[in-house]
Amino acid sequence: MLKIEQLTKSFFSLVALDGVDLVVPRGEILGVLGPNGAGKTTLFKVLSGSLVADHGRVQPLDNRPWPHIGYKPERLFFPPRMRVGQYLSLMASLCNLSGREAEKATTAVVEMTGLQDYLGKRLKDCSKGMRQRVSLAQALLNNPDLLILDEPTDGLDPLGQAELHAVLLNLNEMGKTILLSSHRLGEVTAVCTRIAILNHGRVIYQSSMAEALAERPQATIYVDKDLTPMTQLLHTLHPDISVEGQKLSLHRDATVIRRQILSILLAAGYDILQIERRRATLTEIYSEVLK
Ligand code: ATP
Repeated sequence: MLKIEQLTKSFFSLVALDGVDLVVPRGEILGVLGPNGAGKTTLFKVLSGSLVADHGRVQPLDNRPWPHIGYKPERLFFPPRMRVGQYLSLMASLCNLSGREAEKATTAVVEMTGLQDYLGKRLKDCSKGMRQRVSLAQALLNNPDLLILDEPTDGLDPLGQAELHAVLLNLNEMGKTILLSSHRLGEVTAVCTRIAILNHGRVIYQSSMAEALAERPQATIYVDKDLTPMTQLLHTLHPDISVEGQKLSLHRDATVIRRQILSILLAAGYDILQIERRRATLTEIYSEVLK
């Protein structure tokens, strides 16, 4: 949907974006991760048009027209005394919609975000989770093709998070491309189809979620005795083997030689108590990429 090339943005001497290259493919839910200050919010502000980049290009993929963009900022500011329904109607009227269309759009976004029971509540009395929903509803008013959501579940309780995940998956099924930032790696694993990791204003990793997790298989072997005497031999067999007490972990390519390892352990008098095979978690990938 969008191709971002060599995007840079500085605030005086501070380089917030330092040549960001990123593709946002149509139909995906792309999760942007990265430590505090990595540049996620700055990137989203540039994409949504609230900040102007110093250099670089953002253009639609495949010579398509510019997508309609809906943006939910990280920091939410609302007129405190206005009521939720009143506020959304006002925002709809600012979206170049006629009276009837604005009314229809407001009803649709209220339903999508589950705000039906809160239309009469003043914004100053809304919880943080409720305000997140109001902001998401606002971002949906112009029926965007691309939703840019800066930390959409910040402040939501676990139930609220799960509800919002369901809303996002539903919106994606309706054909909306979603770009979101989050510090919750479990949430990103559950919801996103692609990930990009930003650090010091650069994209240092991007992949489809399926490929990212498939790239790093792991196997763990539990034995009946301490493995310390075997550590040196195992390391000479493969550098991606780690040993801790009675536990031996095979990372990435080392999983291929697991049969050989098992026979070595059996020959050395160890009993195999348990073997676990699993994919790496996003947390492991994240820490490895940022090492
Ligand atoms: P977080 O995860 O904490 O939200 P982030 O990845 O979204 O962080 P940004 O908010 O984009 O990071 O900030 C990137 C860098 O740019 C930070 O060092 C930040 O202090 C700086 N920065 C952002 N906006 C401004 C501004 N308006 N003026 C000066 N510096 C800014």
